[in-house]
Amino acid sequence: MTSKANGKHIVVLGAGYAGLTAATRAGKHNRVTLVAPETRFRHRIRQHETAAGHPARRPTVAEVVRGRGVRHVRARATELDLAGRKVLLDTGETLAYDTLVYALGSRTAWHGVPGAAEHAYGAERAAEVGERLRTADRPGTVAVVGGGATGIEMATEIAEAHPAWKVRIVAAGRVGGWFSARGRAHVLAVMAGLGVEVHEQATVTAVDQDGLDTTAGRIPGDVVVWAASMEPLPLAAEAGLTVNAAGRAVVDRYLRSVSHPDVHVIGDAAEVTVPGTGTLRMACATALPMGRYVGRLLAGRTGKPFAFRYAVQCLSLGRREGLVQLIHGDDSMRPGVLTGRTGRLTKALIVNAVVRSLR
Ligand SMILES: Cc1cc2nc3c(=O)[nH]c(=O)nc-3n(C[C@H](O)[C@H](O)[C@H](O)COP(=O)(O)OP(=O)(O)OC[C@H]3O[C@@H](n4cnc5c(N)ncnc54)[C@H](O)[C@@H]3O)c2cc1C
Repeated sequence: MTSKANGKHIVVLGAGYAGLTAATRAGKHNRVTLVAPETRFRHRIRQHETAAGHPARRPTVAEVVRGRGVRHVRARATELDLAGRKVLLDTGETLAYDTLVYALGSRTAWHGVPGAAEHAYGAERAAEVGERLRTADRPGTVAVVGGGATGIEMATEIAEAHPAWKVRIVAAGRVGGWFSARGRAHVLAVMAGLGVEVHEQATVTAVDQDGLDTTAGRIPGDVVVWAASMEPLPLAAEAGLTVNAAGRAVVDRYLRSVSHPDVHVIGDAAEVTVPGTGTLRMACATALPMGRYVGRLLAGRTGKPFAFRYAVQCLSLGRREGLVQLIHGDDSMRPGVLTGRTGRLTKALIVNAVVRSLR
């Protein structure tokens, strides 16, 4: 093993699930600088709770990295000089590195839908949604765009917390359409119980201040929450890392950029294909093991290629209900689900374990 004095300077970009998990493990045997603008951990998988007006307690970045030999620089990376092995920051500082860990995550993708970026709230603005619902003169309507996991969690959480508001979920395909028949039936039953109106096969073509134009007609929404999809940040492509059509950096089995092996890319930013499992989806469930793996690799604690199998898919459906969908290791569905109190508690246990696993 390398002693810290002889260790490399590793710059980790991003303090999300992937970046923090990598930094806290690599810091023991290397000089690690973590670059991210926030003071407090963002904990994106709880943003629907914030949107509903009951934000979860989140640790500070300093608390997570305490005692792990990591220096946190509060800044944004604005440019990568891959040939010169340097990162330029919005503070004007330049950081030289031996190894770069790129873990900048993803952001709301608006897909060029007119009015969406202006009139809808992405998950990043969850706190503003919570504030708007709390301070409105009278209850109105909420339209949540997206029938995937984020849209389902947003719609059910908001409907449960604000029963006087009319909540609609709008999906281009089917809401929760990838779940097993029992899993999707449970999602729809909980939504029906919460009074959530479901609009399927309705692709949004425009957003304005009163709601949505869709291929299935007009859908009103005083507040529009956009949970349709996420996209990687453009910095990797701009810097010249090899990326796929969606802009995710393509990596090898050691999670190194295929074009720049001194750059590891992890989390939502990376396109990772694991033999027998497939190409991993953007998820906390995949970002954490990637971060853990790269941290251990850089600390000299493993030399094996990255391996990963999925365990379960789980959703919260408000504070009283949940869904744990049983799956195979390649993420394909098994018929079985856990619902009700068991589903809710299992999801809560997993979410609580996430913060502990960052260090
Ligand atoms: C509401 C919601 C619920 C979700 N629920 C689940 C769930 O139940 N299970 C699941 O597996 N996944 C879930 N996800 C998806 C999950 O949140 C993401 O896949 C995960 O956050 C990816 O982790 P990451 O570390 O790659 O990136 P992120 O968590 O996005 O972290 C990115 C980091 O990069 C920093 N950063 C950004 N730009 C810069 C810059 N220029 N310079 C420096 N730092 C920068 C950010 O500040 C942040 O620290 C959910 C997402 C949302 C929005």
